[in-house]
Order: sequence, then C-alpha cells, then structure tokens
Amino acid sequence: MKAAIFEGKGILTLKDILEPKLEDRKFPKKYKKGEFVFVGKDEQVKLKVLVASICGTDLHILNVPPGHDATPGIVLGHEYVGEVTEIGSRVKNVKVGDRVVVDPNIKCGMCYFCRNDMASLCRDMTTLGIFCDGGFAEYNVAPAKQLFAIPKDLDIEKAIFFEPLTCATHAWSKLNFKLGDSVLIFGAGPMGCYFIELARLSGASKIFVSEPSEFRRKFAKKLKADVIISPERENLLEIIKLNTFKNGFFGVDVAVDACGIPEVIKQAMDLVKPGGKISTFGEQNINAFADKVSFTKVTQKELQIIGSYATTRSADQTINILTRSDINLKKLITHRIKLDEIHKGMELMRKGEAIESVVYPK
Ligand SMILES: [Zn+2]
Ligand SMILES: [Zn+2]
Repeated sequence: MKAAIFEGKGILTLKDILEPKLEDRKFPKKYKKGEFVFVGKDEQVKLKVLVASICGTDLHILNVPPGHDATPGIVLGHEYVGEVTEIGSRVKNVKVGDRVVVDPNIKCGMCYFCRNDMASLCRDMTTLGIFCDGGFAEYNVAPAKQLFAIPKDLDIEKAIFFEPLTCATHAWSKLNFKLGDSVLIFGAGPMGCYFIELARLSGASKIFVSEPSEFRRKFAKKLKADVIISPERENLLEIIKLNTFKNGFFGVDVAVDACGIPEVIKQAMDLVKPGGKISTFGEQNINAFADKVSFTKVTQKELQIIGSYATTRSADQTINILTRSDINLKKLITHRIKLDEIHKGMELMRKGEAIESVVYPK
C-alpha cells in the first residue's frame, strides 16, 4: 500500500509498504526514550483510511531543526477517519464496517494523571501518526480504545475535524466560559476558527479575532466573528477599548492564543478585563519568549492564565458537536488532495495558503 513515511531530518517520502496486520505491537513512548507501550493483537483494529488531514504539528515535525519530536520510519498523519475492516478478538466498542474517528494519543490508563482525570498529562503516552504509524496511508492499525464510531449520516469531511476539535474543546472547557462573556481569539488558522465556533455555541456576547493574514481573516468572517482585526494595520488595544469600555474599565472576559506567538500572551494581559482569563493554547517554540512580561499585572488584575494540552475527555462531546446541523467546519476545507500530492499540501499549509487540507489515500 501507499504511505507517507517520516524519515527524520525534515524528509517525508511516499513509499509502497506492506499493509499492516493485527499483531502484538510496541509503540515508542513520547517522553521516555527507549521505553515502549505494548498493545496486544486482540485489542487492535485495522482501518481503511477514508480521509486524513494535515495538521500544523506535521509541519513542525518536518522542520529542520524539528519543532516537534517524532519517530523516524513511521507513517505520518494523526488526524484521520477510517472504516473498520478487521477487529481483534477482545474488541467490543467498534465492529467491521463502522466508520470511526481516532484519538491519536494513546495514554497508559494506569498512572496518577490517567487515574485523576488529567490523562493529557500522562508521561507514558504515545501518539499514532507521530511516534507510531498513522493515517497518511491506505490502511492503519490502531488500538480499539482510541477509536470512536461516528453516526452513519455524519459526513467524513465533517468528522475529519474531530481530533483538533477535541483539543480546542478541552481548552475551552478549562476556561469555564460563561454565557454573555466576550472573547478575543489570536489567530484565525484552523484552531482559531474552531474557537470561533465554540465561542458562538457557548453564547459569547462578542467574538473578536486578531489575524494578520488577509486570507485567514476571510475565514473568520465566514464563521461570523463579530470584530475582525488586522493587528498590523489597526490598533488592537484601541478597538478593544472602544468596544468594551464600560463603568470605567475595559477588556474582554477571555483571550485565547490560537497562534503560538509568545507576544500575544503579553498583549492578552492588557486586553482582558480585571479578573479575565487567558488560554495559552497555541504551542509555542519552547525557546521563544515574550519580552518583559509583568506578572504584577497578573497579580493586580487577578488574571488566570490557563494551559491546555491535547485532551483528556472531550471525544464524545466533540462527536456530538460535529453532528449539530449549525456546525459545518467543512467550509474551512480549502484543498482536497490525493496522498501522492502530500508534499504540495504541506507546502500550501506552510505558506499559509490553506486552512484545512484533506488528504484522500486513493
Ligand atoms: Zn494535530
Ligand atoms: Zn498514564
């Protein structure tokens, strides 16, 4: 079968490899080099990949030096929808013929974090499509516990948003957003767009989006954000002041970094109202720092800065959201490509000329 293999050092190669089969496997752990997660043949499921999508993390993996770790030699792609073609003898949650979405983060289920509703912090985890084989291929084998069957009538081009949306949903839940709150979202890439939808669903009074790219601002508009700002051409602070000033103070209730630029966290500290909340959702280069952050602001404004990584338990909720008729993230799909054209897809994403690029293995 055809597959896109990560070879290390920024190289992705299309290769013909053997179709995977159900067999006892060991997957390299994410944080503990040289240690493995064992998954027995009985608990595995073989999937025919129906559609996959390119994530910003894939680009980070393919950067030199890489912005994200990955195991060389694996099939890349951690966002995919599949159809079950074979199941192990102990598998109960899915059956042959089911269409499924994939939670790519395989957690141990036994550690302190896994057992205290913080599984995204599991130190023994591994990830399909990053540390072991994923979805840029015709077939994939995954542990059954990572799979969630989707309703028969759910379009796969809606279901493909499952994985990134679970992450956004996790971050959003941690913010404890209240009806009528206002929100400022930094970035209108795919993640920023998901936050616009979640904010609207949560009854936001006003959704502000700050995005330098004109191409991306158009998508924020399509999703009906209320105030869309070009931070390079307009004065973000003045616009927030103008729109939120009341009773002697101004600011949004919540700000979300959906772009991964450290400076926006610093800006957010000025743009949220006293008592406001900031999600540091965007994954930033670990060596990038916001210059001169005053934590006195955090103290005096009693700000809450909330980290969020991957997801703990938002899978079922996310499927429910995707089945809503008023949620149609499909309009974010700018490119539909074949697996053969994956390099072109990566390039479009890199140049910021795509929002969501979906990949069809055949
Ligand atoms: Zn991703
Ligand atoms: Zn664990």
